[in-house]
Amino acid sequence: SKTSDKLSAFLESGIYRFENSNVVFIDPVRMLNRSYTRFRSSPSAYYSRFFDSKETIVTSDSKKRKRKEKKTPHDLNEREQVATLRHQQARPMLLKAHGFLMEATDLLAIMKDLRGGSNICSSKELSEQHSFIELGKVWQAPLYEIILKGALKGLERVVPVFNNLVVNETSDDMEAEFLNNKYILPRESCFYMSDLGQVHNLIHECNVGFNLIVIDPPWENGSARQKLRYPTLPNWYFLSLPIKQLAHPDGALVALWMTNREKLHNFVQKELFPSWGVSHEATYYWLKVKADGSLISDLDLFHHRPYECLLLGYFHGQGTNSKQPPRLRPIKHDQIIISIPGEYSRKPPIGELLLEHVPDFKPARCIELFAREMTAGWTSWGNEPLHFQQSTSFVRD
Ligand code: SAM
Repeated sequence: SKTSDKLSAFLESGIYRFENSNVVFIDPVRMLNRSYTRFRSSPSAYYSRFFDSKETIVTSDSKKRKRKEKKTPHDLNEREQVATLRHQQARPMLLKAHGFLMEATDLLAIMKDLRGGSNICSSKELSEQHSFIELGKVWQAPLYEIILKGALKGLERVVPVFNNLVVNETSDDMEAEFLNNKYILPRESCFYMSDLGQVHNLIHECNVGFNLIVIDPPWENGSARQKLRYPTLPNWYFLSLPIKQLAHPDGALVALWMTNREKLHNFVQKELFPSWGVSHEATYYWLKVKADGSLISDLDLFHHRPYECLLLGYFHGQGTNSKQPPRLRPIKHDQIIISIPGEYSRKPPIGELLLEHVPDFKPARCIELFAREMTAGWTSWGNEPLHFQQSTSFVRD
């Protein structure tokens, strides 16, 4: 039947498209798995939250928040009013999208099992992570090396791990060893692990001309929880990202993850996109649900929206004389991507969903900035691109 076809397509691809709508539900684990041949991303490592029905968002300052929620429209300052308006505009379609999910009983039945039953990863195992952020800052950083092991025994390479383009050029997963921990590098992928101060080195170290640039900056926000996980940077730092130099001269799709702070929306529209030479084309929404399908928090909670925005823009480029101007297709607005979140601040792998909007280049060259993981065929840059590549997050096929 039609529904079982859709479900088997979902189990294969990790993508469930709701018919005649702008809504998809995705299983990030299945999508990540397309990057690997001998390994599988472990569902229990990915889905560290939101499978326990008791789990709710609890924040230390929830009392303060409650008081804030009670504000009437008259109490809101101008910026809060704009934010509320933005939310009110998105609200009906987010509710509608969530309605589609709640009606898809067959999908809901599968969702509960996405984490799988056995071998739930212990948090102890996960906490034995190296802090690449800290190691990269010490004076010995240039001396740290990573051992790359090809599929064929005996093929080993030892290369600097920081400020160096580390490449798996093979068409197979590669195992790597760093300070006694193992990492898995997907086929035809590479990473450059450095601070923002060295991001310009990318321009010389790798073949630029990227057709798709995904960026998830460490935006500042008030959350104390966040401060424990990774350092954040003031907005103006991101003006220095070399988007123009990284982008293909004939044009590129730029996807920027946002937080819900109104100040940030202003900054991106008025300063950041213009300084990168990017025009805003469309906004996507990532709607976050628990394993039972319910939203991870109340839709109207001002400081804890259960959704985040992804702004899509085009870098139009200068165009090369010999070629026709790039064909940039209009992007459909207001697409909604629903998934169960993984670890704190981890974004779902949306690269594949974006590829249809990438200017006509095949295969597309893709880069992720501020990445914490790697993808087959992609370049990952950030101060901890190996963060989710540790072998404990994988199971052998
Ligand atoms: N997209 C990622 C994911 O899904 O897991 C999350 C990215 S997180 C929002 C931002 C990243 O930027 C963190 O890994 C953080 O360590 C990194 N970062 C913070 N300051 C940095 C700096 N000065 N240079 C490079 N990366 C930095």
